[in-house]
Amino acid sequence: MCAMPELPEVETVRRGLEPRVTGRRINSIEIREPRLLRLSPLTDLTLLSGQTIHGLKRRGKYLVFVLERHYLIFHLGMTGQLTVHDLASWDAKRSNDCRLMDAEAPPQHPPDPHTHAHLLLDGGVAVLFRDVRKFGRVFLVGGEASSLPEFFERRGLGLEPFTEDYNLAAFLARLSARNLKLKSLLLDQAFVAGVGNIYADEALFEAGLHPERKVDSLHRVDKERLFKAVRVVLERGIAFGGTSLRDYVNCEGAPGRNQEELYVYGRTGEPCLRCSEPIRKILVSQRGTHFCPACQPRSPRSASRRRREGQPAINP
Ligand SMILES: [Zn+2]
Repeated sequence: MCAMPELPEVETVRRGLEPRVTGRRINSIEIREPRLLRLSPLTDLTLLSGQTIHGLKRRGKYLVFVLERHYLIFHLGMTGQLTVHDLASWDAKRSNDCRLMDAEAPPQHPPDPHTHAHLLLDGGVAVLFRDVRKFGRVFLVGGEASSLPEFFERRGLGLEPFTEDYNLAAFLARLSARNLKLKSLLLDQAFVAGVGNIYADEALFEAGLHPERKVDSLHRVDKERLFKAVRVVLERGIAFGGTSLRDYVNCEGAPGRNQEELYVYGRTGEPCLRCSEPIRKILVSQRGTHFCPACQPRSPRSASRRRREGQPAINP
């Protein structure tokens, strides 16, 4: 199963990386796969040498190194892994004496032919970008106050969860702008930034909404539930360190634990954890989509009837 890193995975990497790299100076950066830099406005990486890392930000699925005079931006693509290493430990790993000592450490991946970017910092720290499928991207933009918002504007990113921009009024306005199937809308980065296939399926389960329902079939209460559900499933994903189905690891090289907390994604044929009905998988917008046919009925009428039975106070 191929799943790309989404907001919770990128945020987990950001939180792990930030204390390890903030305040460190970049000694050198090398990108061995030119394809990674294809979309970058600036390509002269020597500009970065000597700059201090002031911090790490995230917008949607983009991770931003805030430097003195530039922003260095990573998108992990499908299989990207951004990990931090002590160069001293590489030397230690080469020696057999350290094998026992390392046995309990996370499975940190040493540099290999899939390691396309090497960022060497002072203090013997390295940040490596490894990406088997090479859909990841590295961007370099100028450090002016406007350049970062403009960068994301050009990419058409929508509401950022966990900021004040993500509020019910803005959510309802963007939701009603296009009458798409809910799954397709959630995958659109111009609606809510950072949601991908896993968390779209989980959010629709959380909200009790069928993935093929269209926006104009929703009652106000359905929309409010979806608004809350998106944040609930992203929050859970972050709390459990991201979802690791194949490639995703945190910055220490360790997998996340959220794959054990999923209600529908990747659980085709298994019983629903709320009602025991087998989880089904269908294609929506060419994407594998998982849902519970009982908890997420297709017909809005049966959905509102179920809600009325469960929550008599709701006004349809
Ligand atoms: Zn169910």
